[in-house]
Amino acid sequence: MHRTNRHWLPAYCNPDSYLPKVQETRALFSTPPFGFWDFVGRALTFLQGDLAKEIGFVYDLRNILPCKWKCADEAVFSVDLALYAHTGRFPFDKGMIGGRFNSASLGAAVHHGSINLDFGGSHVGYEPGESGGRFGRIWRPLHRGHSTDCGYLCAVIEPFRRVYEDACNTIVAFRPPSEKVFVSVPNEYVQPSWSNNPVKLLVDTDTLTDGEVKYDPHKPYTQTPIGRTLFYLKPGLLERLDEDEAQHFRTPQHTPMGKNLSYPFFNIFNTESPLDEHGLPQQRLELYMKYILSARNSPPELKAAIVNTNLEYNRLTDAVREPEFEAYSFASFTGVFVDMYDEEGDRYRNLFQPLGVSIKPAGTTSLTELPQHELYEIFSGLAPTPPLRSAHDVLGLDSSKSIVEKFTFRPSYFERREAPRRTVTS
Ligand SMILES: [Zn+2]
Repeated sequence: MHRTNRHWLPAYCNPDSYLPKVQETRALFSTPPFGFWDFVGRALTFLQGDLAKEIGFVYDLRNILPCKWKCADEAVFSVDLALYAHTGRFPFDKGMIGGRFNSASLGAAVHHGSINLDFGGSHVGYEPGESGGRFGRIWRPLHRGHSTDCGYLCAVIEPFRRVYEDACNTIVAFRPPSEKVFVSVPNEYVQPSWSNNPVKLLVDTDTLTDGEVKYDPHKPYTQTPIGRTLFYLKPGLLERLDEDEAQHFRTPQHTPMGKNLSYPFFNIFNTESPLDEHGLPQQRLELYMKYILSARNSPPELKAAIVNTNLEYNRLTDAVREPEFEAYSFASFTGVFVDMYDEEGDRYRNLFQPLGVSIKPAGTTSLTELPQHELYEIFSGLAPTPPLRSAHDVLGLDSSKSIVEKFTFRPSYFERREAPRRTVTS
């Protein structure tokens, strides 16, 4: 008999509840990011062009207040320098640590300038290297060592990641001779009260399992090991895998699920997370945690930066449409900042992968959005507007081109379909 364990989930975590979509890493990084310096130049060209005029945006550099919303991390400071160099003005800060958009800053910002030019998003460290490089950490010269980047987002993920990785290693599948495939699950991943950890991962018995295996004294392999529950594996999980990969689980050897424990087959939540008045975690990233942890085409740190940027972008577009800002105009460029440490220059530099542009002209509360694929097409055909102050004067460099070339990430390098480790567990 099949029994569900979904009643243990908080309502926000139930797979039947609605969750707005966020952009896929594979789609976003099907085109390379821009050097941020170069992107600002193109954004200014775009805003002086016909499309921006059609949308109703009036370009007047004398009245433009450059604004940034990003993490406080000094690894993203070249963003400030690029805005200063291109507009001649110091940027207004609409951001908070962790790459949050501070909507309470808008009143002050429009008080300082009637045209707000926003650049913002989350950031993630990147180290160039073999197989597309590595995300989530960066060189910290003052410590002469690496540390997490964005440290804030990494700290949000970390307790969930530890539990997820343990589940990947300890949930095993196997097929005794002449039987269906079994899945053996530690009880703490079936029912939340079996673990003291406030972070609870529950396999979804509805999608992963097809009823419990009954003990048969003539079949010793049906005996449930201590602290575990033995189920029949529903075919869905193996059907998602390549044939040779699925074959690993069809042998009597106990094989850990590994990253094949993907988002349709588990749910994860923190019982200690503060909730808001809607019953949702105040840290909205937690709603997407199972997608962040098990993404096949994205290191979790990058996925977290993309999800967070999507969430904050929503807050931005919501805020600028408030009636009190009707008289002002906003051109908002939102994306993920990719931080790199340039050893030769002993400084941080930034790439920018735009996720979208929204323009709210003065005199209206509605805005026009350009989606990412259109934006890339338009922007890659534009000549950047030259900065008012040269890259050499401001950054001590001549161009940002060389770091773009060092960025070799393509999502398929991070395919999580490596063969599961084969270990014998009891
Ligand atoms: Zn940060």
